[in-house]
Amino acid sequence: MMASRHTVLMRLVASAYSIAQKAGTIVRGVIAEGDLGIVEKTCPTDLQTKADRLAQMSICSSLARKFPKLTIIGEEAYLHTYPKTVTLKMKEPTFHVNERAEVSHVRSFGDLPFEEVDQELIEDGQWEEILKQPCPSQYSTIKEEDLVVWVDPLDGTKEYTEGLLDNVTVLIGIAYEGKAIAGVINQPYYNYQSNEKQKLREHENEAKAGPDAMLGRTIWGVLGLGAFGFQLKEVPAGKHIITTTRSHSNKLVTDCVTAMNPDDVLRVGGAGNKIIQLIEGKASAYVFASPGCKKWDTCAPEVILHAVGGYKN
Ligand code: AMP
Ligand code: MG
Ligand code: MG
Repeated sequence: MMASRHTVLMRLVASAYSIAQKAGTIVRGVIAEGDLGIVEKTCPTDLQTKADRLAQMSICSSLARKFPKLTIIGEEAYLHTYPKTVTLKMKEPTFHVNERAEVSHVRSFGDLPFEEVDQELIEDGQWEEILKQPCPSQYSTIKEEDLVVWVDPLDGTKEYTEGLLDNVTVLIGIAYEGKAIAGVINQPYYNYQSNEKQKLREHENEAKAGPDAMLGRTIWGVLGLGAFGFQLKEVPAGKHIITTTRSHSNKLVTDCVTAMNPDDVLRVGGAGNKIIQLIEGKASAYVFASPGCKKWDTCAPEVILHAVGGYKN
């Protein structure tokens, strides 16, 4: 086989872009079908839907086919693939798992049978625009087996189940030596409100609206190269606007936000969504003083933020 003239990292990012787009299509498809298949994971605000499951299957299987030596870690376990669901009592929370499943499987991805995944879920494409970009020299010799991919197939699940669809993102983050170096964020319902208005305005002209209307977008970035797919903006000068959780709050979180004395507080769902608010100048800081965010939530967003000069601590 002829060696590719592109680096592993750039090929991976280009594939992740197409794969995240496909996942976005899946996320929209489940809403269109109407049956969300909601499962409670640890508590009533920690949910999994059919879209979380299908999108993760699609992303992880597609990546694993093309890049068999990658380490891929996804948020979801495949509760739905198990024929019988039982309730398993844990110390605190209650997990619903299959009789055959070990508790450890609930948080891990390792047991997914790739070969059984429906062909329709596989995305084979890569975004050619990304392959036209140069790979930052410090990453040019990275091998496939040295990369870790963190997958949040649907970030903002709670909001998704409540119809706050533009809070939802698909996150694919790429890490090397413990550091987030590249990432892709798909926002499946970007434009959906303006799109609805557009449809209303154009209801007499069906040809213009309809399923082909622009819906969704994909943002991507690589450290040392930049972040693309959005317009970088800053909040109006002098304004201090904090964005924080909408559905995972507690006293510490609210006290912390209050102590920072902001001009305004935005409470929205999704780690990906809140980073988009930062880079688009809707908020100046994302504050969440609580455990809960995992590496699959932070990996891709962190890269986009760093690539435009923001910081996380
Ligand atoms: P949020 O800002 O509430 O949308 O949270 C951002 C991400 O962190 C989402 O993926 C949440 O599922 C996750 N998260 C935050 N807090 C918790 C929590 N207490 N339990 C479970 N997941 C959480
Ligand atoms: Mg998440
Ligand atoms: Mg998620």
